[in-house]
Formats: sequence, structure tokens, C-alpha cells
Amino acid sequence: MNDPAKSTLTFVAAGRVALGLRRVAKQLESFAVREARLPSERFSATVRMTLQRAPHRSDELADDCIFCKIANKELPADIVFEDDELIAFNDISPQAPTHVLVVPKIHIPTVNDLGDDDAERMGRLVLCAQALAEARGIDGDGYRLILNCNEGGGQTVFHIHLHLLGGRQMRALG
Ligand code: AMP
Ligand code: ZN
Repeated sequence: MNDPAKSTLTFVAAGRVALGLRRVAKQLESFAVREARLPSERFSATVRMTLQRAPHRSDELADDCIFCKIANKELPADIVFEDDELIAFNDISPQAPTHVLVVPKIHIPTVNDLGDDDAERMGRLVLCAQALAEARGIDGDGYRLILNCNEGGGQTVFHIHLHLLGGRQMRALG
């Protein structure tokens, strides 16, 4: 015989188990999303493959590139820093009291052309901008670093460069 009190209890218990399972599933799902967003060695296989097969490019100075010509001293620029790998100069059309371009000396057209080998080079680009910001006394107030990629990203000179902008309040993005 069916005891109505007993079947109600069974029904409630089953409901609780289902709720519990749904909660666990949700937690696993959000954990998976967080995992997928973690950088470094947890790069997804696809990202890792992309990094490894970054397009091959010439390390020669590109013939028609103004930033290669500046790096090669064929064109003048207001140079503020230089070493074997990098050159930094004031932007010809400054958008802020400090507007410096930090440029690798080898010709890399866009961010899309970067590969594993460039990790240290790009890190040095950022550290160079950081040092310049400190030297100009804008590090405390803050500054903006920008890398534009391709036309859609606003890139007009196709030799990678990091914009260092500071000395005025930047508008928030978006
Ligand atoms: P992007 O739009 O990110 O490609 O930035 C290119 C930047 O290069 C612009 O801010 C220009 O004002 C700057 N620029 C172009 N030609 C020169 C030059 N000969 N010397 C210094 N800056 C330049
Ligand atoms: Zn170039």
C-alpha cells in the first residue's frame, strides 16, 4: 500500500538531491570557465599552437617602413632611449604631454605576427615604457600604454610600437 506521507517525503528528498546536483554542476561549470581564462601554462591547446606557429618574418629592416628607417637612422626622430633591441622616440603628433613610441628595432608588422620568441622582447618594451614614465614623473599619477593592431584597431604604422601616453587625465574606455 502506498503511504501518502512516505511518498511526499521521498518526493521532497529527491527534489533536494536534484537541487544539490544542479548546484554542484553549476560550480563545476564556473570552475571550468575560470580555468579556461587562466593565463601562462594553462593556455588552451589552441592558443599554445597559435603561439608556436606564429608567422615567420624577416628580421631585416623592412624597405618601406618609417620606423625601420628611424631605427636605422635614415629618418630623424626625437629619440629618448635606445639600446640594441629597442628605440623610443617622441610621437610626431602627440596626443598628451608625454607621448612616446617604444619600438622594437626588428620589423614586426603587427601583434598578430608575434610568437613565443618575442615574449621577452615585448616584456622589455613594457619595462622601457615603465622606466620612461618614471623618468618623466608620471608614474605616480598614471599613464596609458596602447598597442594598436591592424586597421580595425587603429594601427597606421605597420611596425609594432607601444604608445606611452601620460601627463593628462585619460578618459575611461567605453
Ligand atoms: P598607430 O596609429 O598606433 O599605428 O600609431 C602610429 C603613430 O606614429 C601615430 O601616433 C603617429 O603620430 C606616429 N608617427 C608617424 N610617423 C612618425 C614619425 N616620423 N615620427 C614619430 N612619430 C610618428
Ligand atoms: Zn619596420
